[in-house]
Amino acid sequence: MRSALSMILLAAALAACGSGKTPAAQPAPPTGGEPAAAPPTGGEEAAAPAEPKPAGPTKPVTNSSLAAIGLDPAALDRTADPCEDFFQFACGNWIKNTQIAPDKPLAMRSFVDIQDRNYEYEHEMLEKAMKDPGKDPLLQKLGAYYGACMDEASIEKAGLKPIQPMLAQVAKVKDAKSLSATVTYLQAQGVNALFGFGPTEDFVDATKVIANIDQGGLGLPDRDYYLKDDAKVKALRQAYTDYVTAVLVEAGHKPDVAKQEAADILALETEMAKVSKDRVAMRDPKGVYNKIDRDGVAKAMPHFDWNGFWKGVGLANVKDVTVTAPDFLTGVDALIVKTKPEVWRSYLTFHVVADSAPLLTKKLQDLNFKLEQAFTGQAEQKARWKRCIDSTDSSLGDVLGQVFVRDRFPGASKTAAEDQVKAISAAMSADIDSLPWMDAATKEKAHKKLQAMAYQIGYPSKWRTYSFKIGKNTYAANAMAGRKAETQRLIAKIGKPTDREDWQMSAPTVNAYYNPNQNKMVFPAGILQPPFYAVDHSIPANLGAMGMVVGHELTHGFDDQGAQFDDVGNMKDWWQPETQKQFKARTQCVVDQYSKYEIAGVKLNGALTQGENIADIGGIKLALNAYRTLRAPAKDTIVADGFTEDQQFFLAFGQAWCAKARPEYEQLLASVDPHSPARWRVNGTLSATPDFAKAFSCKIGAKLRPRNACVVW
Ligand SMILES: [Zn+2]
Repeated sequence: MRSALSMILLAAALAACGSGKTPAAQPAPPTGGEPAAAPPTGGEEAAAPAEPKPAGPTKPVTNSSLAAIGLDPAALDRTADPCEDFFQFACGNWIKNTQIAPDKPLAMRSFVDIQDRNYEYEHEMLEKAMKDPGKDPLLQKLGAYYGACMDEASIEKAGLKPIQPMLAQVAKVKDAKSLSATVTYLQAQGVNALFGFGPTEDFVDATKVIANIDQGGLGLPDRDYYLKDDAKVKALRQAYTDYVTAVLVEAGHKPDVAKQEAADILALETEMAKVSKDRVAMRDPKGVYNKIDRDGVAKAMPHFDWNGFWKGVGLANVKDVTVTAPDFLTGVDALIVKTKPEVWRSYLTFHVVADSAPLLTKKLQDLNFKLEQAFTGQAEQKARWKRCIDSTDSSLGDVLGQVFVRDRFPGASKTAAEDQVKAISAAMSADIDSLPWMDAATKEKAHKKLQAMAYQIGYPSKWRTYSFKIGKNTYAANAMAGRKAETQRLIAKIGKPTDREDWQMSAPTVNAYYNPNQNKMVFPAGILQPPFYAVDHSIPANLGAMGMVVGHELTHGFDDQGAQFDDVGNMKDWWQPETQKQFKARTQCVVDQYSKYEIAGVKLNGALTQGENIADIGGIKLALNAYRTLRAPAKDTIVADGFTEDQQFFLAFGQAWCAKARPEYEQLLASVDPHSPARWRVNGTLSATPDFAKAFSCKIGAKLRPRNACVVW
């Protein structure tokens, strides 16, 4: 289920551009910097820690190699100084020797490479299911859906026919009442026109699901793209305006008319952007929870027919409603009054066609890709079969998930991930006890929250079923039926108890998330693969990569947002005032630290990325302590190509984030992604990790051993 807070992911979603609007964000990273002049501290000499460990018998050394424990020696740049730029040290040669695929905005050793392996498997499985599904009902369904998607001839023949009913509805808009009726109709189909709408847990009673009215209705990825005036943003705005014009021409409008319509649409969306909250404000739980209920919504936006809306979406008796941005509703209400009906018709026509562009003709998809290209720098569009896999995942996620798990998810990964969660949870418990800045009463509450934190690994406890019709030659109709069914499923949650077993990701997804309203972490099967996790990787390697991911999600329960929710997921202030002051000073330290970093000429937004950065810093610390505990009973200590176990752990972390992105894409992510780019996820995290400086004998004042490390947890 959705939350009014945007889902707290491990990394920005991988799937590109499913909405047919502007590119969805993908995981970030950067190109390598110049090799540092300082000599490497890795290798032989580093095997001996500079600062002697307190007491304890020395264990016998077993020699091994990086390759044998699951790390990539060829990725290293041994000319880089790990204390100045560990990202370069761990990944420099990988960056030098890796080309970004023409159909991708970035290359990455983890997310992108895992996704590629998933694609290969899914491609083979779906092609077979399409040609010869046999008797398996799951394969029959997948094959039928994927097969219709691959049938480009039928898609071309259908043209824009599949969306004619929606366009006919849009043509009826002539005043506020008919605008309301049309928006209602589109929302029931799953088209988020004018505003966003869906279920959310009630922040003050998370056992209940209520309705949420969100801001929305923009075609560009963020309000800033309408409001900023630097040359790059202006160029992107022009690319968008050209796209809008071309889409309307495809919809049958005359070119000169379409051009004027595009200008009107941009002006209208700019007004909507002005009354939208920015991304930092959208991360504030207290700010996005405004339970003004049905009456309050009607008062905030009186020129919209809300009674008609609730009835039209099947919630005639709804009462409990929260609003993300009340000023947005007021602002849009004023726009309803002053905008001419023909501008609304143009706006809705464009959004209906653009929303469905990936389901329609090659011409529309090419136009969509041209816009995507302006934001990502990609040279080529994804192959058709990959787009059809994305679509299958989006419409039939749990059918695809069942087959994926059956074929590709060994039970051992699930057990190992459970063990990691337990070890990391124990590390957090010890960490809470050791915090000098936290008082006893707050510690007790923190322990309570930690103990109540749920985790779900691999796949959901029950699979969703899908009953929408899948026709042989009717791809667009199939996908739209899938979208409508999913919208109905979400709407049906409103007014019911929270379902903690429901997942917001399909099992093959290469990602993870934490839901503060359910105090729950989810790790889909997709992410439990190398380089994050493998049965034959060593404990330091698995914990440095996957363990850090687990620690990251767990720390989300205690980041600047998570800290505002209690053990059962209710927004509640469980902190003693003095401890809270200390916590805020520490999180501010993280904000300031990351605000100094830059990517592709753009400064990082330390306020936007603070939750993810806190989770990274906490995650690495918890994973480190967990790996040490797990290795404590071992009779020997393993040295791999001269690297100690601590060093192996940090290398595993660094190498899980080896990445290289196109500059256009780095700029996009710097504006919209709450995660820092890969280079800073590694270097920023390690600058705040004193144990890293110890492991690599970094001198005080080195970039990754600053005088004041920003440690929150
Ligand atoms: Zn995260």
